[in-house]
Amino acid sequence: MQQEAAPQVGGRPVSAEEEQSPTCTAKCGAQPVPPEGSHPGPFQSHPPRQWSDVTLEELRGRLAEFALERDWDQYHTPRNLILALVGETGELCELFQWRPEAEAGRGLPGFSDQERQAVEEELADVLLYLLRLSDMCGVDLGRAALSKILKNAAKYPAAKCHGSSAKYTAYVREQGQRQQESCPQEVHEQ
Ligand SMILES: [Mg+2]
Repeated sequence: MQQEAAPQVGGRPVSAEEEQSPTCTAKCGAQPVPPEGSHPGPFQSHPPRQWSDVTLEELRGRLAEFALERDWDQYHTPRNLILALVGETGELCELFQWRPEAEAGRGLPGFSDQERQAVEEELADVLLYLLRLSDMCGVDLGRAALSKILKNAAKYPAAKCHGSSAKYTAYVREQGQRQQESCPQEVHEQ
């Protein structure tokens, strides 16, 4: 399909030095984890090594250039890009479909190098289409994502949600009931 963004459109090649000297920046205090197996790509162990410094803006610009050079702007309507994004998400899902948890857990311990490479490429496809879609919709995706993280932090205060996967409505409802019990009239007037 001609509209499929090529994986090489964005991204900075990771240097050999970066590949050979992983640095763990996780604040959990874990020691750096050496790369697993012989896979040469950016696939990471858990906890992760430091990511490369490729920015969303760099990727956005590379995608715009890629489309312009091929006169593909005409095809990159939001509708077409959403459908392409869903298609790529499906390709990613297919790699995990029916895999036992032991194989498809953190770090993908049961995946072969070839399967890891496929995951890497499908993740990139999803990101590239999402970025292109955001650009065509006039959305600054980095800013929007940061804003959403802040909203989610307010919606899910760590003190209330720590270790729980319950939806925020569970504790909002609980809080409302407690307020009603302590001051029924005040809750009613809100
Ligand atoms: Mg794909």
